[in-house]
Amino acid sequence: MLSQDEFNFVIYLGISLFALGLLLSLLARASFKGSDLAHRLEKALPGAQCAQCGYPGCSAYAKAVAEGEVTCDKCIPGGEDTIKELATILGIEPPVTQGEDSIFAPRKIAFIHRSVCTGCHRCARHCPVDAIVGDIKQPHYVLSEECIACGDCLKQCPEECIEMVSQELQLKNFNWNIQSIRITGGNA
Ligand code: SF4
Ligand code: SF4
Ligand code: SF4
Repeated sequence: MLSQDEFNFVIYLGISLFALGLLLSLLARASFKGSDLAHRLEKALPGAQCAQCGYPGCSAYAKAVAEGEVTCDKCIPGGEDTIKELATILGIEPPVTQGEDSIFAPRKIAFIHRSVCTGCHRCARHCPVDAIVGDIKQPHYVLSEECIACGDCLKQCPEECIEMVSQELQLKNFNWNIQSIRITGGNA
């Protein structure tokens, strides 16, 4: 037969374990919800992995949006449709993207200042898409069509002679985001 103290201890232990279990299950559910949201956001992104959103790929951007670190209007290739889709998933109004930057958004690419480059080849070894070419001890250059603007090469260059520049606007690299153009005014 249990004494009153032992009985109280068993009841206390039972309640504590129940509360702990409840807490762990709530935490697990919250973390699953977060990763589930990031997964759904990622599926709505174009998958270009171009890093123009400022993150190293769609997955990283989706995770940052899900965690509220960044707004859902940073994916340039996705344009207005993607912004709306992400906002719907998040259950918010789409952020209003205004100004010329959202319409005429030249792609960024890495640019090597060849007069400073020593040809050490470090940048080329780290470029994930083999966009940097050049012989050892010769100035290197970037294949602009291949560069996905991840910025990795900048961190590798001991001469600090690489910078990200906006690609010169041409018809072939123009980001035609026609849906972001809003026509206002006119005669009713
Ligand atoms: S801008 Fe970011 S989210 Fe959009 S396609 Fe490129 S990497 Fe993916
Ligand atoms: S930013 Fe540099 S490392 Fe990244 S893709 Fe372009 S050239 Fe390669
Ligand atoms: S890391 Fe810098 S110095 Fe070395 S090859 Fe690349 S651009 Fe030239």
